[in-house]
Amino acid sequence: MQINRVGVIGGGQLAWMMAGAAKTLAITLAVQTPNNTDPATSLASETILASITDAEATARLASRCDAITFENEFIDIEALSALADRGVQFVPSLSVLEPLLDKYHQRCYLRDLGIPVPEFVALEDLGENLRAKIENPNFSMKWPLVMKARRHGYDGRGTTIVKDLSELEATWEKWGRDPVLLEEFVPFERELAAIAARDRSGEIAIYPIVETQQEDQVCRRVIVPAALEPGAIAECEEIARTILNSLQAVGVFGIELFLTPDAKILVNEIAPRTHNSGHFSLDASETSQFEQLLRAVCDRPLGSTALRSAGAVMVNLLGTERSLLDYGAKREELAGFPGARVHWYGKTESRPGRKLGHVTVLLDKSELPIAHEIAAILESIWYSTRV
Ligand code: ADP
Repeated sequence: MQINRVGVIGGGQLAWMMAGAAKTLAITLAVQTPNNTDPATSLASETILASITDAEATARLASRCDAITFENEFIDIEALSALADRGVQFVPSLSVLEPLLDKYHQRCYLRDLGIPVPEFVALEDLGENLRAKIENPNFSMKWPLVMKARRHGYDGRGTTIVKDLSELEATWEKWGRDPVLLEEFVPFERELAAIAARDRSGEIAIYPIVETQQEDQVCRRVIVPAALEPGAIAECEEIARTILNSLQAVGVFGIELFLTPDAKILVNEIAPRTHNSGHFSLDASETSQFEQLLRAVCDRPLGSTALRSAGAVMVNLLGTERSLLDYGAKREELAGFPGARVHWYGKTESRPGRKLGHVTVLLDKSELPIAHEIAAILESIWYSTRV
């Protein structure tokens, strides 16, 4: 069956960027999203206004589309299974998403596959059990530890560093005592990411490995490509291939990695969708990650992941305040930076930490060593107090 009509569960910036790619491929893109001001509603061919966990709404979306994909993982997989049983095609399939949605299950999946991951345990209840687990001599993790909500975390929400048992207990209490993932704090040298696509025939295309820089657990900037030894690049690519082949995954996946001071590569997390660390591909790659996802969903050959320039730097434009401003002057100033492309998601309201847009600057070879300085200039424009 030819797939020309794609539905997306979610209507945020990722679906918005997918809509641009859909146009290039002459695919119609419908979205299911709760608010009529959500970014993708302005470009989608149709919007189903509903919560993303509303399976009846997804059934309506599916009745208008040939296949359904995702822009986030906050879905109700059980409810969607009933639709899959009735023939709705999800890409990636629900069996691929199943081991990935819960951070603890994902860690177990990767460990069982032999992929290096930070040391981790699940904590399911408080009190004596917690103390016993932490104080058990077999528990080799040392403070500080990283505590993560098993589901529904994003941009650092649901991830926190705890320095001792009393802080851990207090945070867990604050989080409503839900089961959490507890893991060693990795004193990484750098964070890296691999954006990888796999199609139905099993072909895999991997974008250049990038360096990502987070502050307060939120991605601030991405350097393309990461300055790495060829051996480290090959290792990241092999990890991506192993994971995608093992899952028999179809789609685009963001794989977040830690590079440790002793040159080990650990997987932090897999996002079963397009990813912030791949936004550079809109301007810097032959095929953007958004077009690549639609190609995989629609069973078209994957596109080239080659860079069009020697490199690039991507800076997220994060909200700093609650406001209804559109920051036009700052956006213009950013757009005036040589080689810069500004992507503004059209959100109607700014909030501290909210991703409002991003800017990518293409780099020639001579500029690669100053990528960090360029990122700093872009941030000084965006975060300046000038209005
Ligand atoms: P989210 O799902 O919100 O993106 P992540 O698990 O990816 O949460 O964590 C966000 C950031 O927090 C990471 O990019 C990293 O900077 C930091 N972080 C997460 N886990 C660890 C860890 N085990 N050790 C050190 N830093 C970590």
